[in-house]
Amino acid sequence: MSQEYKIDTLAIHAGQEPDPSTGAIMTPIYQTSTYVQPDVGQHLGYEYSRTDNPTRTALQANLAALEGAKHGLVFASGLAATDIVMRLMRPGDHIVVGDDVYGGTYRMFDKVLKHYGLEFSYIDLTDLDAFQQALRPNTKLVWLETPTNPNLKLADIAALSELAHARQAQVVVDNTFASSYLQNPLALGADIVLHSTTKYLGGHSDVVGGAVMLNNTEIYEQLKFLQNAIGSVPGPQDCWLVLRGIKTLAVRMERHCRNALTLAQWLSDHPAVAQVLYPGLPDHPQHELAKRQMRDFGGMISIILKGGEPAAREMVKRTHLFALAESLGGVESLIEVPYAMTHASTADSDIAVDPGLVRLSVGIEHIDDLQADLAEALKEL
Ligand SMILES: *Cc1c(COP(=O)(O)O)cnc(C)c1O
Repeated sequence: MSQEYKIDTLAIHAGQEPDPSTGAIMTPIYQTSTYVQPDVGQHLGYEYSRTDNPTRTALQANLAALEGAKHGLVFASGLAATDIVMRLMRPGDHIVVGDDVYGGTYRMFDKVLKHYGLEFSYIDLTDLDAFQQALRPNTKLVWLETPTNPNLKLADIAALSELAHARQAQVVVDNTFASSYLQNPLALGADIVLHSTTKYLGGHSDVVGGAVMLNNTEIYEQLKFLQNAIGSVPGPQDCWLVLRGIKTLAVRMERHCRNALTLAQWLSDHPAVAQVLYPGLPDHPQHELAKRQMRDFGGMISIILKGGEPAAREMVKRTHLFALAESLGGVESLIEVPYAMTHASTADSDIAVDPGLVRLSVGIEHIDDLQADLAEALKEL
């Protein structure tokens, strides 16, 4: 599909044609494991559904278009996508990682992959000098998230990519938090974009999935080989759910961003709140970078409560609309205490998460209802 279409349009149409046999406008769920071949060694494009499936093909093409990429591949989860990318590494390779990456990513690197001879350095990527000093002759990959979870720090994708490329290292951006609607890392110089489609892309808290998008055809062929060789693929029903979710990505993201900005401004003046972390606020240390690098500021807010961990634990018990749950990016609002929940697996690391930090995934409900829910939960905290 033409790259000239805007992302709102691509989200609905890219990769999807009416079904040639029936005219069905929505890509069917090809719930099949195998495909009948007209003759030995001949097939109609599909042989076996671990290797390829038409519903998955449609989703992969759609996701590639959203990131302005030549290629897309999908996986059974965001971490399965991470695992496949990391299999490009060989023992002795060194990877520079942002110091507050997703807890599950850190767990995979530190508890699984470290034992296969890979070396990891966790660096504050807001500090370009520290980043340059961390690069070694055997550095093959830079792994970053921006904005980060849950501290909402930004990394300068263009600047980091330039420095990494000068040292022959590739850059992977986990773009889950921003979503393809808010940020397109390949256009800023990154080599590989990764998503947990579980979050904003799926958007309805009803599916777990992951994706990788990239332009380099040689690396794509290696990843495609690994996708089939390892087999961590999503089923056709899950691919269909993500395709369906993506159709409303643009309108959902607009509302997520509008609600989040309103709440962030209101929370900034709340007496129970010590600090609001949100890139859309002018006092965020990287507000200018956010304006340059992102189309809008996203639906995630972190707040640090004056009452510390006890206040955080109390607040999340009191909300009604904001459901106490891990995950993010769905239409419904969620609230959690990362220190005790999503980031408990990073407790032994340098990843600093304030015990009094509450993370909000702001949904697309009416802003008045969301604000009233938080006001009630923060009363006298
Ligand atoms: C959720 C998440 C992942 C992992 O994705 P799963 O689909 O849960 O495996 C990776 N990165 C980020 C930033 C996430 O939020």
